[in-house]
Amino acid sequence: MTLTAEQLQTLSLREATAAEQTAANAQRAAWALWASFAGWYSAEQVAALARQTAAISQQGRQVAGNLGMAYMREVLAGLRGAGVPTIRLDLPDARLGADLEQVYSRPAEAYKLTYALTEDPAAATKAAQDRLTTLVRDDLLVARRDGEHQQMKAAKVEHYRRIVHPERSKTGVCGLCLAAADRVYTIAKLLPIHDDCKCTTAPDGDAAAEVIKVDLEQLYKDAGGTTDGRALKQVRYQVNEHGELGPVLGVKGQNFQRRGEAPKGDPIERARKELAALEPVLASLERRSAAGEDVAAALAYQVNRVTKLRAIAA
Ligand SMILES: [Zn+2]
Repeated sequence: MTLTAEQLQTLSLREATAAEQTAANAQRAAWALWASFAGWYSAEQVAALARQTAAISQQGRQVAGNLGMAYMREVLAGLRGAGVPTIRLDLPDARLGADLEQVYSRPAEAYKLTYALTEDPAAATKAAQDRLTTLVRDDLLVARRDGEHQQMKAAKVEHYRRIVHPERSKTGVCGLCLAAADRVYTIAKLLPIHDDCKCTTAPDGDAAAEVIKVDLEQLYKDAGGTTDGRALKQVRYQVNEHGELGPVLGVKGQNFQRRGEAPKGDPIERARKELAALEPVLASLERRSAAGEDVAAALAYQVNRVTKLRAIAA
């Protein structure tokens, strides 16, 4: 009954900071597996690494989920006093049941494709690391959101809202978050997230929450008062259903590619463009191979990809 908007922001900030730390640790542990990896073209070696990576991510998800849950317990205790039910975190399957070996093989896909386009091992390694970092980040983000959500559900919260963190975003508050900040969600729906989302949630609807709402609205008005903020506030968003992450925020009208859906644009045009980048690398790999260098795996990948694209472009 005593929780103020300021205290809520403090709790939320503490949770967001701990969650970021957890994600950074998991990303570091996962990348330690891949950093000196040399089996990019071996399906078995990639699969083995993918399974280990999934295990690291799973540990991180558990920590992140519990952080979300603990944060929400504090918020509820602040709003209601005693009587907040304690439950055990029960996360849904990672990536909503997708094949985790396949999901965590994506850093190798990124490596192979980038190498095929650039012949630059450093660029390929960087692409693999970026892919891995994003995978782990999203897994933990979803788990934290789910932890908060499960605690609200257990406490019979019926409505909740998004708490944005302009101070946590290096590039200023995300326009999608700010645009969605005044939305109230029913507990039947999960909070839609987005790339690198720092948002947390808080119950909405009872008298105490009303006080918070007024204060938060002022805070968001301040954040949205700058020129940048006003522009951000005009971002129109839509909620897309992501096959592995659940609901995600997207810019309204922007294409959202669902799993199994063909990519947008002319396939022949796309194939020609990619071929233009792949063919010089193919020629170079053939030269290196003829000179006795062992580039067989990279060359086989290149030949396979070029053959497929030539068939499309013809
Ligand atoms: Zn957000």
